[in-house]
Amino acid sequence: MLLGCIADDFTGATDLANMLVRAGMRTVQTIGVPRDATATKNADAIVIALKTRTLPAGDAIAQSLAALAWLRSAGARQFYFKYCSTFDSTDAGNIGPVADALLDALGTPFTIACPAFPANRRTIYLGHLFVGDVLLSESSMRDHPLTPMRDASLVRTLGRQTRRKVGLVPWTVVRNGRKAIGACFDALAAAGVSHAVVDALEDADLMEIGAACAALPLVTAGSGIALGLPQNFRAAGLLPERADAALLPEVRGPAAILAGSCSAATRAQVARWAESRPAVALDPLAGGDAAALAAKALAAVEAELSAGRPFLVYSTADSATVAAVQQRLGRDQAAALVESAFALLAQRLVERGVRRLVVAGGETAGAVVQALGIEALAIGREIDPGVPWTGALGRQTMLLALKSGNFGGVDFFSRALEMAQ
Ligand code: ADP
Repeated sequence: MLLGCIADDFTGATDLANMLVRAGMRTVQTIGVPRDATATKNADAIVIALKTRTLPAGDAIAQSLAALAWLRSAGARQFYFKYCSTFDSTDAGNIGPVADALLDALGTPFTIACPAFPANRRTIYLGHLFVGDVLLSESSMRDHPLTPMRDASLVRTLGRQTRRKVGLVPWTVVRNGRKAIGACFDALAAAGVSHAVVDALEDADLMEIGAACAALPLVTAGSGIALGLPQNFRAAGLLPERADAALLPEVRGPAAILAGSCSAATRAQVARWAESRPAVALDPLAGGDAAALAAKALAAVEAELSAGRPFLVYSTADSATVAAVQQRLGRDQAAALVESAFALLAQRLVERGVRRLVVAGGETAGAVVQALGIEALAIGREIDPGVPWTGALGRQTMLLALKSGNFGGVDFFSRALEMAQ
């Protein structure tokens, strides 16, 4: 095991793991701190998915330190704290407090802060984070319900989250490559800086920054910097060229799709699938509890299930329908009812032999993964940007594609199933 990663949310963890696989590292994502090392024994990198982004700072620190301790005991040589490419956090944390705690625990004085992800149009210039063409503070992140980002200067933003000194590696240095970046790290560290915000405009910058980070015990970043780290392990002779970093177990068994997302991309994907293939609606207003909804859906797909034909069960609806449901049941109750129904349905489907499961919706995917008792996922080939097939490790060998609502092209469902034949 080479690289030990701590991610502050679930889909962010998958995004990072996907990057590492693309860069040639066998990667396992665990849901929380693993109980033992069985699921992770052949991994070059492990990504522990936490849900600490908006917790009180003390709780986020405690969980992150527990993850660090586990990764250290598993033998990681370098550590990576992964946050969102829009630096989602408040002035109370949690990026600064967690990064400080990890530095202390590792007994090291210096790290970087670099959420840049040029492929997704997150770039940093003179310490200011841009989302597409606009500053972070002018993007929709300005009005995020939990982490409104109203200052695009990462030096200032991070400075409000830590008592340590925050500095900058400007692009005029970054463009001169790894040696220049490394010299700037040394100069900043000598001047007492603990956190260096690093400018990055394109993937080539990420590769140079990654190379300059070879000797840092801790890197804090979005998923972009993950592109540039595997080369260091390869150069040190620790990581072979792997043609099979994305290899998943051979799995036989029927396929099913569960869509609990009402996001625009998922609505289009559901409509496209339902044009020509079996699709059953799960209607939260049909009456009955989650078990009744799950039983009804199961009965409706019985013919497909028996014939081994893939099918879709969806609660996906337009915003007017969702508003009507929420008005009748309450917003949280409606969400809990639908999530529990999908969780129970997933359990029944796996009992009936389903072994390839596509789930649309972040919360929905979380509920399904939890209901199936899945503790770790091996990361396989990418279906669409940011969404890989994954292999559940542990009790049940099966393949899962867990899609955040707005990800994926319109024919995502059929392409995902074709890839997992
Ligand atoms: P996304 O990734 O698109 O945000 P999520 O699964 O995270 O998708 O969130 C969608 C939420 O909406 C879930 O809590 C789900 O249970 C709920 N939901 C799904 N369908 C309906 C519906 N028809 N009416 C009300 N709530 C719904």
